[in-house]
Amino acid sequence: MTKTGHNRESRLFYQSRSRRPVIDHAKGVYMWDVNGQRYIDASSGAMVSNIGHSDPRVLAAMQAQMERATFAYRLHFENDAAETLAWRLAERAPGDLERVFFVSGGSEAVESCLKLARQYTLAIGQAQRSKVISRFPSYHGSTLGALAITGYTPMHAPFAPMMVDQPKIPAPTCYLDRDDLSNHDRGLKYANMLEAEILRQGPETVLAFIMEPVGGAATGALVAPDSYYQRIRDICDQYGVLLIYDEVMTGAGRTGTYFAAEHWNIVPDILAVSKGLAAGYAPLGAMIAPDRIVSPVLDHGGFIHGYTYAGNPIACAAGNAVLDVIEQDGLLENAASSGMALKAELTKLMASFPFIGDVRGKGLLLALELVANRNTMEPIAPQHMAAARLVDIAYDKGLIIYWRRTRGGYRGDHIMVCPPLTITPDQLGDILDPLRNALTQLE
Ligand code: PLP
Repeated sequence: MTKTGHNRESRLFYQSRSRRPVIDHAKGVYMWDVNGQRYIDASSGAMVSNIGHSDPRVLAAMQAQMERATFAYRLHFENDAAETLAWRLAERAPGDLERVFFVSGGSEAVESCLKLARQYTLAIGQAQRSKVISRFPSYHGSTLGALAITGYTPMHAPFAPMMVDQPKIPAPTCYLDRDDLSNHDRGLKYANMLEAEILRQGPETVLAFIMEPVGGAATGALVAPDSYYQRIRDICDQYGVLLIYDEVMTGAGRTGTYFAAEHWNIVPDILAVSKGLAAGYAPLGAMIAPDRIVSPVLDHGGFIHGYTYAGNPIACAAGNAVLDVIEQDGLLENAASSGMALKAELTKLMASFPFIGDVRGKGLLLALELVANRNTMEPIAPQHMAAARLVDIAYDKGLIIYWRRTRGGYRGDHIMVCPPLTITPDQLGDILDPLRNALTQLE
């Protein structure tokens, strides 16, 4: 067996040829490889494992469901687990969002939002609406529909000829602006770009605007000024454009409220959630929409869209148990308070490491941006692979963090520090010590 625990060539493949150690087991915020090396999961995988690993309450709920029925196809049976979870999500969702469509992941959730939006406008006699405006940078998924509205150059470019070209507006990267505007006015400035784009496209042709309320992997936990959110809502209302919130990463408590929309009291027209919904215990996602959008579609030939594993009873049993854990253990409150404590500690690192240009985020969706010059926010040249190197150095020290190129995927770097919402003050030290150490090695 090799150092990484591989005893043979792999027949699997993912993005590249690189290989990682083999997982042995995981518990809470820690994971162990087959060689006994311990890691702290400070990115919750890809911002997924919101309640930590191997919680016995979730395992028991899944086991109980498995003993009753492992699979019941939605065209043949309804199932209690899916029905219960749908009611519970409807209770937590903003405003009138109360109809739930289950899927198995984030890309599927986003695809579903796009198709429901389109079918709704067909049902109400607005067939000319088909354009979906999104932000650049942004990430909405890997499937071709979700990719078409994704503003992330490296993933988008190879497939561009196979997709409809959808309009993009700049994400509100206010931290890069060097103008004299107040934060409030900057928020309005970026929101007004949506109005300008709607007018440029022709308002009667625009179907929807989709945004991550707190940016995820493509922007590094980008939070807009408060003024941005309501202005976007007002613009969408003014032009009859549906507002889709992609809460695939922000939903299920990651930012300290169950949905990030709650921070600004915004009611989107359609919402996508996944990652933390079943928190890695099973593949699960959902689209949540109001009856005023769902009913016209169901009354005009039905929703022409669906996946074999939709509403899978084991995945929904996991989703219910994860929600129980979030409630019983006060994890929303912990995400908010630990998030503040962690952000304060990460901000302190700026004093020692001048190449940290910005620390941002909300709750436990936090990121550091690495730059060549903090004053100008000039990015580090891509060939230095600064964030990727940092992640590798940290990994060798048993710290798992997550990196992406930010600003459209070609200019700069950021790393995401997003531990499970169960993280305790003691465990924060287990993140910060190796991180400080890794940053020192990067200098
Ligand atoms: N939308 C957002 C905001 C995401 O962060 C992601 C994944 O990172 C997706 C959609 C796609 O989700 P999935 O990878 O589960 O298909």
